[in-house]
Amino acid sequence: MHNPPEDADARRAVAPVICYPNDTLRKPPLDLYRTARDTAQEINRIHIPPREARCFHLSAGSFFRITCTEGPQVGDLNLFEARNLDERFFSGKTRALHGSHLKVGDRLWSCLPYMRPMATIFADTLDWYGQDEHGGRVHDVIGTRCDPYTHHLLSGQDYHHTCHSNLTRALAEYMGRPLSEVEPHVHDVLNVFMCTGFTRDTGQYFMKASPARRGDYIEFFAEIDLLGVLSACPGGDCGSEHSSDTAQCYPLEVTIHAPSAGALDGWYSPSNNRYSRRHAPD
Ligand SMILES: [Zn+2]
Repeated sequence: MHNPPEDADARRAVAPVICYPNDTLRKPPLDLYRTARDTAQEINRIHIPPREARCFHLSAGSFFRITCTEGPQVGDLNLFEARNLDERFFSGKTRALHGSHLKVGDRLWSCLPYMRPMATIFADTLDWYGQDEHGGRVHDVIGTRCDPYTHHLLSGQDYHHTCHSNLTRALAEYMGRPLSEVEPHVHDVLNVFMCTGFTRDTGQYFMKASPARRGDYIEFFAEIDLLGVLSACPGGDCGSEHSSDTAQCYPLEVTIHAPSAGALDGWYSPSNNRYSRRHAPD
């Protein structure tokens, strides 16, 4: 332990600056999306049972809504480019660009070297929640996903329906590939409906019961062709614990809507990041 220097208070008082000022990012055309959504037709509906995950395909320009159909239920979302599992959702850089919790207008960015918007949050019935007295907010990109390895480290128990396990099984089944082959593709998630923050004293990641209720939803616009995988977390509303069969869990539902012809005129699916590797040292 070291004694603070004489100017410790002055060093601590230095004003922070934003790491990634995001005002140069192109704003999503939310008005165009809204107009297109008004005439879009439902084309698919996927039921995700409690403590399970399911895959779904999304064409660029479609809308997908995740709904708590029966009660408060946290969902763990993975996104891939539809034909290339190497291009996946980049939770860490999305957090660096938009903050620890996502809101309407924020993008879900893909990993390097692709780094383009995969989806845009278009509507959210929990947009009223803001920040609570504990510093909690909804829809975080902090938590990685509950997984059986951390659970085993902490408890010595084996549990097979963590979100990591569910996402792996669903992806393996959808791709017709062995679990061991697809498991490394499962990645850090968007925690849909989860209410989380960091404790003031120890800086530890906390969760509290989701404020979502039956009928609440979050909706996204697919910017590129996507393969989505969604797990209904075994923590249920994540008000007490993860990785067990004790929490009350509910199903989730994904509904997919396709826009009518011409509704997105003037909109283009984003291409890969324009940074040119040729100008950089190897
Ligand atoms: Zn989980």
